[in-house]
Amino acid sequence: MRKPMIAGNWKMNKTPTETVALAEELKKIRVLHNVEIVVCPMTVSLFAASQALKGSEIVLGAQNVHFEDKGAFTGEANCASYKELGVKYIILGHSERRQYFAETNETVNKKVLKVLEQGFRPIVCVGEKLEEKQAGITNEVVCLQTKAALCGVERSQIDNVVIAYEPVWAIGTGMTATAKDANDTIRAIRGAVREMYGDLAEQVRILYGGSMNDKNCDELMSQPEIDGGLIGGASLVAEKFDRIVNYGR
Ligand code: PEP
Repeated sequence: MRKPMIAGNWKMNKTPTETVALAEELKKIRVLHNVEIVVCPMTVSLFAASQALKGSEIVLGAQNVHFEDKGAFTGEANCASYKELGVKYIILGHSERRQYFAETNETVNKKVLKVLEQGFRPIVCVGEKLEEKQAGITNEVVCLQTKAALCGVERSQIDNVVIAYEPVWAIGTGMTATAKDANDTIRAIRGAVREMYGDLAEQVRILYGGSMNDKNCDELMSQPEIDGGLIGGASLVAEKFDRIVNYGR
């Protein structure tokens, strides 16, 4: 019922020229099953990506947005610009944004409401830090982040929301949650969505992210609660991304 999604978060990598080169490689990938493929280049590379991906099935995403429409917010980017570029998804609340750019549950929520109002699909990132995992409060942390991010989202909008469960300690470290732990935590996140939206929670895709790669994608994607992956490092290498989008083949 939920279409699987594999999304590449290119982070602060790939200049516009390099973006075109990688996009050309990705366009050659033969996708052997029903999966939505999204790539999220740097803001300054989105135009190059939108041109390079014309005519391909690969969908364009952004890594962040401001919650205001326009104005005196030096260095930020707005929804209207993304619309012109054909962006469909916007990653929000990534742990790097929370850690280095002081994003809070409140600002993430403002962004979620804005991008839904503007017709985009947010990919809302939630995840516990290592000390929270060790304290045994993973579910409390991720469920609170989820509910805070969704506060005020209408029932009619909820199927446009994608959630990515990304344990902070697993991002870029080579350490992955076990497939079972990832599955269990995602089940808890869906439970939090169900408390707010009832059965509509079944329509919400929840991805796993955190050192997912060409080696561990099969096991992670075989879990019933895991609807896809948000991939950092491994999404920058075309052969690895090919293997991941064709997980289980
Ligand atoms: C990410 O940044 O969303 C991510 C999952 O990174 P990596 O795959 O490199 O751990």
